[in-house]
Amino acid sequence: MSEENIPKTQTAALVRRQGGPVEFDDNYPVTLPGSDEILVKVLYTGVCQSDLHTKAGTATGADGKPITNIKLPHVGGHEGVGRVVKFGPNLSPTEKLKLGTLVGIRFLSRVCHECEYCTSGRDQHCGNATNHLHHEDGSFQQYCVLDTKFLTELPQDIDPKVVGPALCAGVTAYKAVTNANLKKGEYLTVIGAGGGLGHFAVQYGLALGMNVLGVDAGAEKQKFVESLGARFVDFSTCKDLAGEVRSITGGGSHAVVVTSGHPLAFRGLADMARIGGSISLVGIPPGDVHLDAPVAGIVIKGLKIQGNLVGSLKETLEAVEFVRKGQVKPHVKVRPFRDLPEVYELLEKGDVSGRIVLEL
Ligand SMILES: [Zn+2]
Ligand SMILES: [Zn+2]
Repeated sequence: MSEENIPKTQTAALVRRQGGPVEFDDNYPVTLPGSDEILVKVLYTGVCQSDLHTKAGTATGADGKPITNIKLPHVGGHEGVGRVVKFGPNLSPTEKLKLGTLVGIRFLSRVCHECEYCTSGRDQHCGNATNHLHHEDGSFQQYCVLDTKFLTELPQDIDPKVVGPALCAGVTAYKAVTNANLKKGEYLTVIGAGGGLGHFAVQYGLALGMNVLGVDAGAEKQKFVESLGARFVDFSTCKDLAGEVRSITGGGSHAVVVTSGHPLAFRGLADMARIGGSISLVGIPPGDVHLDAPVAGIVIKGLKIQGNLVGSLKETLEAVEFVRKGQVKPHVKVRPFRDLPEVYELLEKGDVSGRIVLEL
C-alpha cells in the first residue's frame, strides 16, 4: 500500500463515557504519523479483560481505586497486529522496517527509556509511560500510530491471526510462569486454566517442562484444558480444592498462578502451595479484591508472593517466540470487528475459552 491509499477517516470502536456502550464510528479521523512514528493498518486484535474493565469504569489502579482519568472517547485494543503503511516525516524505510512489515500494538505505547525501570529491563513499570488503554487510541480502529522507539517488531513469518493475544495475555502468563522459577517436573497449578490468560500459563508451563494442573469449572473447560496436556481439577464439583491439589501434587504445588479475576480465586492459595513455593498473581480483578491468605501459613511454609504486570518488550518477544515455534498455540476464535459489544458480554459472563480475536 502506498501513501495515497490512506483514507482521511476510518472505522473505530468508541466509548464516549466510562460505563457507556461501545459505538462504531465510520468517520473517525485517521491520525497521521509524526516524527519517529509510523502508521499501521490493523489486521487483527485480541480483546482483553482490561479493555472491558476500562470501558466499564471498573479497572483498578495500584491504589485499589477505579481508573477514571482516561482519554475520551476511549478507543481500546492492545493485542493488535498490523502492517506498516506510512512513515513519519523524518523516517524512511529500512531493511527491517518497511511498508508491509508486521508489527504489534501492545498495552504500552511509549516509555521514557531513562528511568530506573526502563534502564533495568522493566520498562512495563516506567512511571513516564503512556499506554493504549488510558492515553492513546489502541487497536480497536483500522489505523493506529506507533512510536518506532518502542516498537514491537514481530517475526515476519508468524501467523497474524493468532499472535495478538500473546502480546498481553501471553506475555503476562509467560512472566508469571517464568518468575515462579520452577525446575522441570515440578508442579504448576493454574487457577482459571481455561481462560485467556490461563490457557497461556498452562502452555508456557508445559513448554518449560513443568507438571501442570489446571483448575477451572465445567465440562467444556475440562475438555479444553486436558486437550492442552494438563491435568484438570473442577473447582465447582470439588469439595476441598486445596486438599485435592495437595493430594495430586504430593504435598502442595511448587507454584500457584492465579489467572482468574474472580474474587474467590484469591482464597485458599497458601493451602495449595508447597513449602518454599510461590503464589503468582496476574491480571487485575475489577474492584477492591484482596489476597486472602493466613500470615501464619505464608511464614511457616516460607511462601513467596509475587505480582506480575504484563512484561517488558524483551519478554514480550520471548513469549512471541514460543508461539512462532509452535510450542505455545494461542487458542483463538476469529470474529468480525463489529462483534466487539457481543464479545464484551461473553467476557463478562466468563464464557470464553482461550481468546477472541477480531478481524478489522
Ligand atoms: Zn491486556
Ligand atoms: Zn522509563
